[in-house]
Amino acid sequence: MAPYTPFCTICGAKITREASDDNDITQKWLSDISLIYISPDRTVQPNKLSLLLGDHARIPENEGEFPELLDESTGTYRILESALFKYEASYADSYCYPVHRACLGILEEVIHSCGIDAHPRELIGYLFLVFGEFPFDLCQVYWPSEYGGISEYQKLVRQAKCQVPPRFQFVETSPLDLEGMRKRVDEERENLKNKDAEGIENIPSTMPDFVPLPVEVVQHILGFLEWSDIRNLQRIPSKRTIDFPDIFWQELCEFQDEFGFLGYRQDDKSVTSWYEQCVLADRLMKRDLPEIKNRMRIWRLCIDIFSICTHSALEEAVGVEKAPDFFESLQPEDPRTLLHVQAADRRQLLTPTLFDGMRTRFSGTIDNIVTTGMYVSFKGTGGLRFVSGFKFLPSEKAVGHLSKFDNSFVSFKSNTPNEFLIMHVAANKYGIVDISVVSSRSPTPEPKWLGGCDLTGCAITRWTIRFGGPTTTFSKVIVNLNVLTMTSLQILRPSFMSSTTMTPEETFIQGHLWKPNIPVLNADSSLNQHLFYCTKQKMTGIGTLLSDDTYGQSEFNPLECIHGNETMTRLSFWSTGLYNDISAIEVYTKERGSTPYVVGKPMGAATDIFIDGGGGEYISGMKITVIKCSGHIHSLSIVTSYNRTFKISFARKEELEFERNETTRLVDLCPNDTDKVTGFYCRFSQHWAETALLDIGAITMKHDDPKRVSHQPPDIDSGPVNSQLIRPFDRTLHTPLRRQVAISNSWRFFSEASLKGCNKITAYFQIDPPFRLSGICIFYPDTEYPVLPTILGQIGRATTTETMTFDTSGGEVINEVSVFYKPLYGEEAFVVVGLGIGTSKIFDSNHNRRNELGDCKKEGVHEVEKLEIGESDSVQWEYIETSDYISLAT
Ligand SMILES: [Zn+2]
Repeated sequence: MAPYTPFCTICGAKITREASDDNDITQKWLSDISLIYISPDRTVQPNKLSLLLGDHARIPENEGEFPELLDESTGTYRILESALFKYEASYADSYCYPVHRACLGILEEVIHSCGIDAHPRELIGYLFLVFGEFPFDLCQVYWPSEYGGISEYQKLVRQAKCQVPPRFQFVETSPLDLEGMRKRVDEERENLKNKDAEGIENIPSTMPDFVPLPVEVVQHILGFLEWSDIRNLQRIPSKRTIDFPDIFWQELCEFQDEFGFLGYRQDDKSVTSWYEQCVLADRLMKRDLPEIKNRMRIWRLCIDIFSICTHSALEEAVGVEKAPDFFESLQPEDPRTLLHVQAADRRQLLTPTLFDGMRTRFSGTIDNIVTTGMYVSFKGTGGLRFVSGFKFLPSEKAVGHLSKFDNSFVSFKSNTPNEFLIMHVAANKYGIVDISVVSSRSPTPEPKWLGGCDLTGCAITRWTIRFGGPTTTFSKVIVNLNVLTMTSLQILRPSFMSSTTMTPEETFIQGHLWKPNIPVLNADSSLNQHLFYCTKQKMTGIGTLLSDDTYGQSEFNPLECIHGNETMTRLSFWSTGLYNDISAIEVYTKERGSTPYVVGKPMGAATDIFIDGGGGEYISGMKITVIKCSGHIHSLSIVTSYNRTFKISFARKEELEFERNETTRLVDLCPNDTDKVTGFYCRFSQHWAETALLDIGAITMKHDDPKRVSHQPPDIDSGPVNSQLIRPFDRTLHTPLRRQVAISNSWRFFSEASLKGCNKITAYFQIDPPFRLSGICIFYPDTEYPVLPTILGQIGRATTTETMTFDTSGGEVINEVSVFYKPLYGEEAFVVVGLGIGTSKIFDSNHNRRNELGDCKKEGVHEVEKLEIGESDSVQWEYIETSDYISLAT
């Protein structure tokens, strides 16, 4: 049985067994845990939680014991408690949450900073309740805040199919190690002293008096500025100065503010100048020290957690019913709830239902609402901030959890005839995050969000509400809630626009959640539903196929879009190349440079397409091949106005049989010959950490220049010209097989190109981490489109490039390529770090030259392999996410 690794419920980092050889003492805190659980020998009432904190519980030494501690059906630690504390078997049903003691310590510090002395039971009680709401992945609870990055990282590790040893990011030292933190601050103070220009004695305590206002007013204004702006302000030379109040800087060191993570108390005697403290803290943060990052991450997470707990304690539940049995509702057996992004029969009912990511604990309904406006209540802070309730005026009908101190008002009145109200709702996979209501007459139709929430990862939907005069009418508002979030919202007509008054396109847009934004279309562009392939529509019995998603997360699949009338220069299609389909599409444009538009989650490796957008090339058609019986997308073909066809094939291993039986089906997404593709809209399924393209559609636009000859009807069936493809890895071809990864990956990315006649090579480097020469682009002067290179390897994750040119007209040819490999993850994978390219001139034997791309030093290099380029001038570069293999093509 695979060994399990438990995760801290607060910070998401691993809980490790104490290292026996203690070679890395700084990670000791990772094995020091407490357990949060309910006392098993009392009858538990929701308002009288008897919570215990197991002090310094040890996790088992023996890896083999882990499976017994976990209830595999639920992925919780329900038996851990009894196993560790020798409880009776009958209590095995109760469960606990393991947390690092350091993380609990930070939470206590945060609670303490707020003026509450010890951590009160009720707050820990709410913490326990909140834990109970979360989706589980095996052994891990997911906070909506993604642990400040850690959980994303862990997903990637799990995603990798090879046995990548876990590396820790920002977990180097205990986040509770305040002494170490202070030492860092002192260190920074010394650094500062050593530099003359920036000496601490030169820090001004005054600011120029250039604003003709009373000092108090100036100071009030300063309160609105970023502190870095103020620091620049201080440097402006001025004849008159005023004292700058140190209290401004002191506030930045309060627990919930920018430098709060340093844990200074307001009465801290060690602090002589708060301004100095802020300068030091800022410098410390800029040094990107992992221990600072770790403490900051957990500190901010704890502030969010603390605020959720206090909000939960203070708010009032109105118009909702609680689940009757507390324990029953706590059972994590079926955290999956059916999720409808919107009702399928929207046209008839117009009842968009948003999201149902986590278990619903409460639900409520109010009807016949004639309203002039509503108060929207919010709960939490930071990444854990969500909408929690509504109160409509003037009737004061309310539903949800109403906050006494955190709410915003939005008006439903409209002032002019023929005005509509446009409601935007932002949701993420956990719940409803924010709401906006703006007039269709508003000069800026963009949403005006009420809560100021973090909309990262949110999808947005738009509903157009029919104007009702001074009031607006809703027939029904239905909400579902849990302790943390509003998990779904339905608002029923008659106030919504009916489908008959909207174009089909608008109905389509309003019927879906969009990520990151709703595509902005204009008279020239259209989101053509005919150019849309939807896997789910074409499938029968999909429910059974997808129902192995136990954790209720996969149903939140908004449509993601890339759209803009920009000059496309490159497309990258990501896949792990194994069981997954396309996991992400990136579009590079001339206008955005090296920052692509992205849909999906780039994972695995990429196949790339260069498009001569500057020269007028554009995508003129798309064709997808789907598996007839399952409807899954099997491969994607793209054809451009240069009539170049690219095939992106991501076959599932188990579906190969179908391919052989020729049961695939072609779906044509070609726009007509007066249009070009300017964007895509796609839906990806999220199954645990894996992402796969389900649906894809094309956003099209008329040609910019109507006089230009329109492209030929795309010949999508012509042979693909791309050098990168996926194919099964042929072991017999590459023995001895030193790339161990290939053992577990029978599919890999494959590319092939000739080095003959090339005059330029651009190498693409991935810097962070590890350093890797991931691929090269080869340019040939004597081709139809010399600006378009052929790709060897991959360029998807590369951030820097190096270019080498060859004097082809003078007869310079490549005759030798040395490949420098370095081991990765302890020799489980090998990546290319450098290429030595030897050339000679045909007519001049004295002109041999050797050029280097990347790191061709011997140190750390596992192996250098020489490829003699002669008769055979084609090179093949096989790659997956973590490995490269270059050889002469046979
Ligand atoms: Zn932790």
